[in-house]
Amino acid sequence: MPDSNKVYKIGDLTVTKIEEQVIPGIPPGYLYPKLSPQDFAAIEPALAPHDLGATRADVNISVHTWLVRTPKHIILVDTSSGNHKDHPQNPLFHQLNLPYLQRLADAGVRPEDVDYVFNTHLHVDHVGWNTVREKDKWIPTFPNARYLIPSVERDYYSSPASHNEANIPSLGTYEDSVLPVIEAGLVDSIGPDGGPVLDYFTFVPTPGHSIGHMSIEFSSNGDRAIFAGDVMHSPIQVVRPDINSVFCEFLDQATESRRKILDHVAQNDALYFGTHFAGRSVGRITRNDGGYLWIPE
Ligand SMILES: [Zn+2]
Repeated sequence: MPDSNKVYKIGDLTVTKIEEQVIPGIPPGYLYPKLSPQDFAAIEPALAPHDLGATRADVNISVHTWLVRTPKHIILVDTSSGNHKDHPQNPLFHQLNLPYLQRLADAGVRPEDVDYVFNTHLHVDHVGWNTVREKDKWIPTFPNARYLIPSVERDYYSSPASHNEANIPSLGTYEDSVLPVIEAGLVDSIGPDGGPVLDYFTFVPTPGHSIGHMSIEFSSNGDRAIFAGDVMHSPIQVVRPDINSVFCEFLDQATESRRKILDHVAQNDALYFGTHFAGRSVGRITRNDGGYLWIPE
């Protein structure tokens, strides 16, 4: 992908994308059930080559982690899908065997070097590398890290309430990728209102895609940026914030959070780091004719 290994500087911090996989050729009407073929045709010319499949009739989705270096710490924001996890109900993430840890090593980071893991939410493609398989059990991948997890997400996905149709894609994820790090004593909870973390970061509630989804604003030396998790899946939703993805669990809240983040990013000239944007995953958002425009960097 065009921006893998590119180093983004935000004041004293640097951010690099660690690619896990790009899922090609997803029909837009599957990913965005309310997006009509006419809607897609209107947006398609504005999309970058890597946002789209070879025929430009379908869309690509990236799954990646943001590697953040502060002057003191190494931080991973979301940990992609993980290897060897059993998700027969979800073939995109079933029994993967991908060189993610090698890519992290290529970026100069060994598992034991990671100081913090931030999870925006607890879906299958955001917590997978929290753990690795050792014989017949799951153990923390990053043994020296503190894992920061929204408490609302932990409470929901550990309860029977989450065993419903909307959460089918992530069934089993709490057990194989979250519970083992809790049992290892490595988890610190982020409360329902979010709040500041370390010197640079603020967790902000952006519920809807999932029940306790958080975005993470950060700033240094006047530069502002945000990791917004799954508030959006592609630049399509910058143009059409009313469109939810098929993986959004609480639809009205998801739309509300998307509009809130678009406003925030445009107003503050913040750099937006998109988790699933496949073409250029980093960019600015400006107001445009009553809507918004995506300007990749
Ligand atoms: Zn996701």
